[in-house]
Amino acid sequence: MPEDHACAALDAAHRHALAFHHTRATRPPAATAGFAALLDAFGGPAPEAGMPASEVIEQLAAAAGPGLMGTAGPRFFGWVVGGSHPAGVAADWLTSVWGQNAGCYEGAPAAAVAEQVAGQWLLDLLRLPPECSVGITTGATMSNFVCLAAARGALLRRVGWDVEADGLFGAPRITVFIGGDAHASVFAALRYLGFGERSLVRIATDDAGRMRIDALRTALAHCHGPHLVIAQAGHIMTGAFDPIGEIAALMHERHERGGWLHVDGAFGLWARACPAREALAHGIERADSWATDAHKWLQAPYECGCAFVRDADAHRRAMTIGAGYLPPAEDEGVRDPVHYAPELSRRARGFVLWTLLRTFGRRGIAQMIERHCALAQRLARRLAEEPGIAVLNEVELNQVVVRFGADESESLGDVLTDATIECIQKAGICFAVGAQWRERRVMRVSVIAWPTTEDDIDRAAESMIESWRAVGRVRFDAESVAAHA
Ligand SMILES: *Cc1c(COP(=O)(O)O)cnc(C)c1O
Repeated sequence: MPEDHACAALDAAHRHALAFHHTRATRPPAATAGFAALLDAFGGPAPEAGMPASEVIEQLAAAAGPGLMGTAGPRFFGWVVGGSHPAGVAADWLTSVWGQNAGCYEGAPAAAVAEQVAGQWLLDLLRLPPECSVGITTGATMSNFVCLAAARGALLRRVGWDVEADGLFGAPRITVFIGGDAHASVFAALRYLGFGERSLVRIATDDAGRMRIDALRTALAHCHGPHLVIAQAGHIMTGAFDPIGEIAALMHERHERGGWLHVDGAFGLWARACPAREALAHGIERADSWATDAHKWLQAPYECGCAFVRDADAHRRAMTIGAGYLPPAEDEGVRDPVHYAPELSRRARGFVLWTLLRTFGRRGIAQMIERHCALAQRLARRLAEEPGIAVLNEVELNQVVVRFGADESESLGDVLTDATIECIQKAGICFAVGAQWRERRVMRVSVIAWPTTEDDIDRAAESMIESWRAVGRVRFDAESVAAHA
């Protein structure tokens, strides 16, 4: 590629990035193009002749633009997704330009050290045991996988089975206890590890989705072999935390060496970094492993997650890749990322992590988390004041569960809730999605993107209330037509 083409492509990307950044708050919160239009924009036969990269970047920006979701904007409340913070994005650009293959220290020294330092900072900020080892992953699904792989190996080793050498077939059974409201991705991680869905013991949960400690106590009483308890910090609907301190105490009480407590804290673990909310995650430091995301509450660009394991040796045994041609770390204290997460060739995610932690600082992270929680509470208050709208959860974190037509029958409330969500999405001020919660249709709101302000919350609340009133008017008209027919 000619030198000027390379520079033109990088310039074009930079220009589009800045344009996108400046319109973050005014862009529609959802894609405006549908599947057919996007297929048309991206499609065509496989290209024969190439073309200058800068022109392709222009084409890419034009084709993708109408199909982009406003996840990086201030009024996107769908699912639980972070906002791709510019500091992390800038570091991510350099990561790509530098093209480091971050598997081993020798192959990418700066990447390995940035990751090592960021990992130590994370342990400190999240107040996890300093002896933990850290794996940087593509997200919480993989972080759960890494932690559970370490757990599997350690639990089996304690009963005399070496899973890394002997495999899983014929191994003693590990019983897995998991809350009935655990995240779907944890079940996927368990499946990758040879734990079938039906081999799990699901523990009953309360109204907020928290594991019931009495139910866990009863279930554990029947278990005398190796067991793995999987708890959750931050339920994707209600934001609720399992009683992790109590669970840890219960497991401790049993005085058995056969237990391992894992915590899925994809976003909730960050409550640990916020003094005003840390009580929610009380006792979490007593677990054996923790999974979290950086691309949710830390606002890292995708893909970035972290796995923390107290038993560093179990962690390393589960993930290590050793080969004759791979240079082993020679210097004392040097850490090769490859031993702590899947994938040999890998992106140097440590640069983004290091940059974001340095940019926010301990105080900045605490303030952002507290602000999001306060904003979620503000939205919940505004909505709950409106007749016919109910907030179904106690808003302690950043999640709000909303029901429209709260005074109506269950089936009518379902219809009105879905109709209102559709109306909210059409209005295009903010974005939230529906879900099924305790047999009812609800709207989920997750306040988690860095650019969201009070003004955004107020505008979103107005749009939601106005949409609900509009649905009510349509319904009133329909009823009067029916009455006169
Ligand atoms: C998002 C989430 C996951 C999965 O994380 P990914 O980053 O999407 O892989 C797991 N558990 C919980 C509680 C989550 O919110």
